[in-house]
Amino acid sequence: MNIHEYQAKELLAKFGVPVPAGFAAMSVDEAVAAAQQLPGPLWVVKAQIHAGGRGKGKFTELGPDAKGGVRLARSIDEVRDNAAEMLGKTLVTIQTGAAGKQVQRLYITDGVDIAKEFYLALLVDRETGRIAVVASTEGGMDIETVAHDTPEKIATITIDPATGLMPHHGRSVAAALGLKGDLAKQCAKVLSGLYQAFIGTDASQIEINPLAVTDKGELMVLDAKVGFDSNAEFRHKDLAELRDLTEEDPMEIEASKYDLSYIKLDGSIGCMVNGAGLAMATMDIIKLEGAEPANFLDVGGGANKEKVTAAFKIILSDPAVKGILVNIFGGIMRCDIIADGIVAAAREVSLSVPLVVRLEGTNVQQGKDILAQSGLPIIAANDLGDAARKIVAEVKAPVAA
Ligand code: ADP
Ligand code: MG
Repeated sequence: MNIHEYQAKELLAKFGVPVPAGFAAMSVDEAVAAAQQLPGPLWVVKAQIHAGGRGKGKFTELGPDAKGGVRLARSIDEVRDNAAEMLGKTLVTIQTGAAGKQVQRLYITDGVDIAKEFYLALLVDRETGRIAVVASTEGGMDIETVAHDTPEKIATITIDPATGLMPHHGRSVAAALGLKGDLAKQCAKVLSGLYQAFIGTDASQIEINPLAVTDKGELMVLDAKVGFDSNAEFRHKDLAELRDLTEEDPMEIEASKYDLSYIKLDGSIGCMVNGAGLAMATMDIIKLEGAEPANFLDVGGGANKEKVTAAFKIILSDPAVKGILVNIFGGIMRCDIIADGIVAAAREVSLSVPLVVRLEGTNVQQGKDILAQSGLPIIAANDLGDAARKIVAEVKAPVAA
């Protein structure tokens, strides 16, 4: 789960991380009221969408010369004008894709005079199984570009979970950023706050870009991107209210209600599979046969009729789906139960596209019999290769006039 910049900053502030003051606003009036509570003389009006690159982004509805999604304002009137221009518009950045995202919230925050910008991130490094701190002197830039062009300007330090964050980690990060004296001390404090926040919220990433040195010699977090590990959501009920459903794909939201792992893709073959590995293999073999999967969908180990029906509905609500491939391995969940679920679901949603089913595992014969006797036009497949060939042939076959 990802959250907005303003939510991330409010959260980090609770862990003692220095952020400029600011308030979220859903309307022009709220933006003006927010600006009035800040001292000025410089304000920043920031579009709140779950994507970075806002500063250099473009609004679809505004001309090519219009300013991006992060704007400086030197008076309350400028805050008002910028808020009015940005709210409700579509912002396209390098991270949103061409469709962009509609700006429904703004963040009105203190403008600071920046002397230098750094990059600082905490993430889970799967290779070492540790939290990694990534630091770079090249802040305010796209970190992927820095990694590509000047990888020597990125320092990575991993933290042993047995010791947790130690003072030497803070010194190493300060050294990597070229900070000395008081700024080095501030850097160690910021890192400690970020680390406590990371552990305390079961985050999956905290990215600060930029971490700025102000003209007053203070370190400040000017932009923050925070994501949480969904496996630990049950431990953080308070964080659930930070979720902004308008930022998520409606079908993915529906899937999460039924505990289905669903990700929409660009192809035409809907997939319903149990187990993430089997789902990946199913997608691979569809591609091998020359077609593209319309989604990744793992119904999980405990797939029952309700889940299978929900999965069918979600797949069919995607107009790009021209055929469905069900690939289920009956282990703990028996094939006959799965088959019952498929038949009931196919009836309930009045299936309109070809359906190929491959069942394997416990009670496979009973399962196949249920499908064959259902009277539904279900195409049975013997193995994964057979199933992929059959559904691809169905989808590619010319439609009768
Ligand atoms: P994004 O990464 O989505 O473009 P940022 O919040 O990083 O958005 O803003 C882009 C740039 O705008 C920053 O690199 C910084 O130079 C400037 N900026 C952001 N917030 C402030 C602020 N509070 N005061 C002054 N400048 C800011
Ligand atoms: Mg940024």
